[in-house]
Amino acid sequence: MVEKILANLEKSSCAVDNTFLQAVSEVLHSLESVVDSDPRYDAYAILERLVTPDRVIQFKVQWVDDQNHVQINNGYRIQFNNALGPYKGGLRFHPSVSIGVLKFLAFEQIFKNSLTGLPIGGAKGGSDFDPKGKSDFEIMKFCRAFMRELHQYIGARIDVPAGDIGVGSREIGYLFGEYKRITHQYDGVLSGKPYAFGGSLMRPQATGYGVVYFAREMLNVELQESLEGKVCTVSGAGNVAIHTIEKLQQIGALVVTCSDSDGTIYDPKGIKLNVVRELKEEGKRLSLAEYAKLDPEAVYTPKAQYPQDAHAVWQIPCFAAFPCATQNELSLLDAQKLIENGCVAVVEGANMPTETGAIELFLQEGILFSPGKASNAGGVAVSEFEMSQNASMEKWDFDKVDRKLDELMRQIYKRVSLTAKESGRERNFVDGANIAAFKRVAEAMLLEGV
Ligand code: NDP
Repeated sequence: MVEKILANLEKSSCAVDNTFLQAVSEVLHSLESVVDSDPRYDAYAILERLVTPDRVIQFKVQWVDDQNHVQINNGYRIQFNNALGPYKGGLRFHPSVSIGVLKFLAFEQIFKNSLTGLPIGGAKGGSDFDPKGKSDFEIMKFCRAFMRELHQYIGARIDVPAGDIGVGSREIGYLFGEYKRITHQYDGVLSGKPYAFGGSLMRPQATGYGVVYFAREMLNVELQESLEGKVCTVSGAGNVAIHTIEKLQQIGALVVTCSDSDGTIYDPKGIKLNVVRELKEEGKRLSLAEYAKLDPEAVYTPKAQYPQDAHAVWQIPCFAAFPCATQNELSLLDAQKLIENGCVAVVEGANMPTETGAIELFLQEGILFSPGKASNAGGVAVSEFEMSQNASMEKWDFDKVDRKLDELMRQIYKRVSLTAKESGRERNFVDGANIAAFKRVAEAMLLEGV
């Protein structure tokens, strides 16, 4: 059945859907025996319905730049599945954004959101707008133009977007401001808002901290190991990477790398987070090449120095690796190098950063591997906490959100590892995550009828 669905999907998809097909193929192969064991899934076409988005929305975003030139971008929202609750998932602003990329991210989001145990469905959106080099006013004008189109499709109980690559609290603030102007409604229609007007404390930290809470629990239970004093490598230098590094450092790990789209920093004495923040936070997107100029002990390797199928960051020996930049940034060659260098765990902070062949190798070699839909679910979980706070007009303190996040990440680990064990695939957290998430969504779809 799985092969038939994949073949049909391939026939009806175009080349830009490659990442979507990659994500669907991984999930469906995990589910093969589960689907075969319950005739209701076939009778109600659960898999076919699950791989087809409810709605693919595309719109034109027109705005005027600082030179008074008219600019046009494509805007999208993929509302994939709302069996468990309102559509929920981030907005990405990056030139690589296409329907294919967003379909993959929205599809993954269904499973991630299901794993949190919270009442949220799966969606994703964004634009091919490139925020790099844009002034603050241009970002504001673009966000307002984007929301002029998007507002008609979203709502606090319909679809609640959040941030992702290129969309932080500044962008969410501008988007929220425009939504309010158009609709005259002050409700929790976006999460990741600044704290000043309805944002949750800890939302900026949530994904990265959650990644580390998940890793800590997994290493403790599976290997009776801690991260204290261990060398860790992290890729990326954005929201997820920065907060993963911050929490790793707080618990005593030595983080020696970070990277951006142009190159990698290796700092053997430990990444200086204040320098990374100086270069990257608050909308600044300066190159990490500047880091090496400020810290002569650090080594900068430009991306061009490595062939397409290997990445400088994964050549550095480490105990645990945390890919936190973007999809398909850890190849089979990288996986071989990590294993050769003694890495025992790979914990995804980004969405699908590890290529299929690399995942297979990790599982085969007994490396603890956690898929992003499990280990990076802390971000969307705290987004749901923000929705709860907005709905009840409450504000929770930092410690309360942090405690709830830590507990939730431990629950996700437990759910995933137990499901893997019960399915006869002990320590296969890819299958564990896919099966546990699927069962919850599929049950809701069955109960809601066709
Ligand atoms: P940011 O925009 O804050 O940071 C992205 C980082 O990745 C930047 O350092 C960027 O480099 C780098 N990067 C982007 N594209 C490439 C590329 N092609 N090659 C190498 N590096 C690249 O995004 P986030 O940190 O929010 O997101 C990172 C990942 O985590 C994404 O996969 C996202 O979907 C996922 N995620 C994010 C969540 C969140 O709460 N923000 C929640 C769950 C998952 P540069 O600085 O040069 O642009």
